[in-house]
Amino acid sequence: MKYVVVSGGVLSGLGKGVTASSIGVLLKSAGLRVTSIKIDPYLNSDAGTMSPFEHGEVFVLDDGGEVDLDLGNYERFLDINLGKDNNLTTGKIYSKVIEAERRGDYLGKTVQVIPHVTDAVQEWIEDVAHQPADGSDEIPDACIIELGGTVGDIESSPYIEALRQFQFRVGRENVTFVHVSLVPVMGPVGEQKTKPTQHTVKELRGLGITPDILVCRSTAPLNDETREKLAAFCHVPPQAVMSTHDVPNIYHVPLMLQEQGLCDILGVDCHSTSLLSDWKIMAHHLDTLSEEVHIAMVGKYTNLSDAYLSVIKSLQHAAMAVDRKLIIDWIEASHLETDWGDKNEHDTAWAQLKQADGVLVPGGFGDRGVEGKILAANYARTSNTPYLGICLGLQVATIEFCRNVLGLEGANSTEFDENAKTAAVVFMPEISKTHLGGTMRLGARPTLWQVDDCAIKRLYGEGESVDERHRHRYEVNPDLIERIEAAGLVFVGKDETGQRCEIFELEGHPYYIGVQYHPEFKSRPGRPSPPFLGLLKASTGQL
Ligand code: GLN
Repeated sequence: MKYVVVSGGVLSGLGKGVTASSIGVLLKSAGLRVTSIKIDPYLNSDAGTMSPFEHGEVFVLDDGGEVDLDLGNYERFLDINLGKDNNLTTGKIYSKVIEAERRGDYLGKTVQVIPHVTDAVQEWIEDVAHQPADGSDEIPDACIIELGGTVGDIESSPYIEALRQFQFRVGRENVTFVHVSLVPVMGPVGEQKTKPTQHTVKELRGLGITPDILVCRSTAPLNDETREKLAAFCHVPPQAVMSTHDVPNIYHVPLMLQEQGLCDILGVDCHSTSLLSDWKIMAHHLDTLSEEVHIAMVGKYTNLSDAYLSVIKSLQHAAMAVDRKLIIDWIEASHLETDWGDKNEHDTAWAQLKQADGVLVPGGFGDRGVEGKILAANYARTSNTPYLGICLGLQVATIEFCRNVLGLEGANSTEFDENAKTAAVVFMPEISKTHLGGTMRLGARPTLWQVDDCAIKRLYGEGESVDERHRHRYEVNPDLIERIEAAGLVFVGKDETGQRCEIFELEGHPYYIGVQYHPEFKSRPGRPSPPFLGLLKASTGQL
């Protein structure tokens, strides 16, 4: 097993996750089986209880793990399926150590960060690295380990120490340390400054880890002088100083690392499979798209695109498949509401909605903006505009349909109005009311087709069922299904009990689809998720 440890310095948000996934792509293109582990040094057990506003989207795995969005990057870049243990958090590791202490595993000993926590971290890494991830039963050949946060953070120090020890545990020749840093550009002539990188490497080396490779984020390619200087001050050969400068799209990142000789440094032949040429085609295809398609995203965290990262990626995958340049028009749902105080914002939101080729209402929690989302669903239904509702997006469209087609005044979800006159969407009976962490209906569940033929079924193609990932507490009220269906909103996909609604499709509409699950978590570049592909096809007249 070969390990690549990716740490970060200077500041967060340098694209450490994309760098780490790109290195994974290079290893995979050399024919290796690759897996990955993301370490998040916070005390939460998982990302499930964290706000997307602060932390970006909560990514959901097949096994129901609610994890950091970087695991989404790994799944998409490497086309693998990870499990919840691939996201190691301080919450998880401390729970494990404390549980062992209570059991008496350390009887007689004082339990300490070193060696007990650091040992537990190393065992976890070794164990998880050996779990198959690419759908076969084969043990991976290489594991990318990404350490979240920035070197020097108090929280990450036990992990740095564990990884320092790890190189001796598994053999120095089996570990490559990669440090991602920033090279800012200053002054009128655009001087590339090396000092921040010098400092962060000094700090890392002070903790006992000497990086083998430096990856430097910058606006423009590093010049030779900067490279030489970094090499001299940071104890790496100049050819191991990589430049990750701005590129038109992220698919260029593995290619630019390969062009700078990263594969030689890793000692692998990146051309032993055709994978890299596929990436090259994809990166250039995306650059050349010029005809636009406008998708209105009606959501809540619209000024923070990380909150909807996988949805954006899925739209992108689908847009590439229909040869269009994707333009997402972000609409803050509450701006659409009739009583929104700012007339300008209200008018702009409606103008944007009306000029969009398609409308997407993504998942969400809490009642802010819900009435605006209901109005967006109404607009799409009545104007024949293609619509995709995901999770909450399915629920608001159902509420809208109950109110305006069935005439059920006051129809709502009990999430937003406990005493709703008509409970169109209700709390699922099996869900815990007292514990919010990890208690939703989570992970991969089968959806069975209820009809022989319909648009969404054709998009999914062959197969008796669809396997997608879930994350919700509420569902369409089973008592209303018959009436809703009689009026034309048909639940064409249900769970294995035949009770729970998973997919609806509106009769007589070009594309009006709701899914209770989150198809965005399984979309891949080159293999777009069917509901997204349908939306993009319908929005460009190609369905
Ligand atoms: N809040 C809704 C529920 O819990 C929708 C969840 C979601 O969109 N992920 O069912």
